[in-house]
Amino acid sequence: MHVIDGRETPSADGRSFEVRNPATGALVERVAEGGATEIARAVDAAQRAFDDGRWSRIAVRERYRVLNRLAQMLEDALPSLSLLESTCTGRPLREMRAQLSRLPEFYRYFAALARTAEDTITPFEGPYLSYVRRVPLGVIGQITPWNHPLLILTKKLAPALAAGNTVVVKPSEHTPLTTLQLAKMALEAGVPPGVFNVVTGFGGEAGRALASHPGLAKLDLTGGTETGRIVAQTAGANLVRVNCELGGKAPVIVLPDADLEKAAAGAIFAAFIATGQTCIAGARILVHESQAQDLIERMVARAVSLRLGDPLLAQTQLGPLISERQLQRTEEYVAIGKREGAEVQCGGRRATKGVLGKGFFYEPTVFADVRSSMRIAQDEIFGPVTCVLTYKDLDEAVRIANDIPFGLGASIWTSDAAKGMRLSERLNCGVVWINDHHRIDPSLPWGGTKDSGMGRECGIEGYREYTQTKSIVVNLEEPVDWYATTETLRLS
Ligand code: NDP
Repeated sequence: MHVIDGRETPSADGRSFEVRNPATGALVERVAEGGATEIARAVDAAQRAFDDGRWSRIAVRERYRVLNRLAQMLEDALPSLSLLESTCTGRPLREMRAQLSRLPEFYRYFAALARTAEDTITPFEGPYLSYVRRVPLGVIGQITPWNHPLLILTKKLAPALAAGNTVVVKPSEHTPLTTLQLAKMALEAGVPPGVFNVVTGFGGEAGRALASHPGLAKLDLTGGTETGRIVAQTAGANLVRVNCELGGKAPVIVLPDADLEKAAAGAIFAAFIATGQTCIAGARILVHESQAQDLIERMVARAVSLRLGDPLLAQTQLGPLISERQLQRTEEYVAIGKREGAEVQCGGRRATKGVLGKGFFYEPTVFADVRSSMRIAQDEIFGPVTCVLTYKDLDEAVRIANDIPFGLGASIWTSDAAKGMRLSERLNCGVVWINDHHRIDPSLPWGGTKDSGMGRECGIEGYREYTQTKSIVVNLEEPVDWYATTETLRLS
């Protein structure tokens, strides 16, 4: 059931849909299918909650207290939430535990930012005191994907709530269950009814209704680039602010001075975590031509040893893809890569042995002989497929790294950190790791350039994006009677 105005609410027309386990195909739960009616109810509830100030105008220390309580409850519930998230996404439990263990920090970090935020006094000339406050925006619409359901929601929700906004979330049709649990937990923690609402359903209906609702102050989407274009146009027509965290295809640049064994381990981690279904998947491995064969051999040795299997088992390292559609997309891209002349070094086929046959499993795949212009090197595949490309010198490495429509993340592998830092200046993207990949923190601004989106999440900048300034000017003298004189007076 949806969570609207603090109550579990069925769809007005009683519709529902199935959430299934991608590793086994088993039904996990039926969930209410919402549309424009439920979105309108949720936005109304959020608007009422915002207007009456039950959250937006209470003392900041009270919001701080409630969000810290939520962080603690979340921490206590991590074992069961990790299990459910792993069951619905197909990501190995080990990965989900590692990812979810970071979530409480986000609520604590943003609560602390709100609690310690200071307003500014501006140097307004004349007998005036002028100060600038940061106030919440209003009702925020948040649309989230299935690959990191709670993490991505948390990156948006924690700053939105800390700043005093109210929220309507439309989670992915594949993974709505943990979002619903979090909404119920938030109520228990003391977040007032109507402040955090969830409408479950499909992107084409519930998502579209949320993106086109004129009552939003801001729409925040994490999803594919095409969805981003649609949603940004729709919300933009209503002059609703838009934040879009979209697709990516991160270059992993291995410099000639790097330890190749460590670089190979890093490249495999960058490429195959979450079965390659991450926006910053290391999908373009750039290596000096003289070291390509050596790196490929080391990567292949690691890729073929990854253990595919039941995501809930401790030994599993690679889970299934999220859906048949995503599996087919991966198969199609591997076929395209072969036609384009790239060579499969390992993988390149569906994994069907034993229990794997029941789920959407695909073998981790490494392509060599890839040119940057090939579709497998340009398009976001969102599966366990990575491409090795070669460069002759640093300038060519930079050119290839930037030769892509996306600009979310990149990593550089080197034994010379200063060289890595200099190279990072030349990469057109939002985040660069040196000798690592996939690392995040609530304090680290996150977002892309080019087709990877617009706006930033996290950090002080991300918090500010959930606020707006309000300037207040106080006249410290007697007000001027403007029409009582013919003298030329100053307006400032
Ligand atoms: P989608 O773009 O398919 O969906 C994202 C969300 O948007 C889902 O809730 C979806 O609903 C909804 N949606 C789909 N169509 C519309 C529409 N027309 N109007 C409004 N909402 C809509 O992405 P995926 O869920 O497949 O996630 C994978 C994508 O997300 C990848 O491209 C990945 O790179 C990107 N991503 C970006 C991140 C970043 O930080 N930049 C992080 C993680 C992922 P439904 O589920 O029902 O389709």
